[in-house]
Amino acid sequence: MLLQEMAGRPQGCACIVPLYKVMAPAAIAGERWRLGSHVMEINTTETCLQWVARRRLIRNEVQCTRCGQPASLVGRAECGVGVHWTMAQY
Ligand SMILES: [Zn+2]
Repeated sequence: MLLQEMAGRPQGCACIVPLYKVMAPAAIAGERWRLGSHVMEINTTETCLQWVARRRLIRNEVQCTRCGQPASLVGRAECGVGVHWTMAQY
């Protein structure tokens, strides 16, 4: 849904998950899980991105290296993951 929602959005999302959903390092370190216990959470590209972003395995937000402004996450069918970070003016 995230990818479908993002595909038609001119501005995209400034982050993958809301900041309050990003887990604290202590909470991440305290997690005990097996891959099978998270199958439903990682069964689509969007839920997988959200799962790894919540655990700080990928960046939840990106700043433009040229202007320092937050980049937007937008849908892009041509790239492997289906989304990419971009600035509106590029
Ligand atoms: Zn920029």
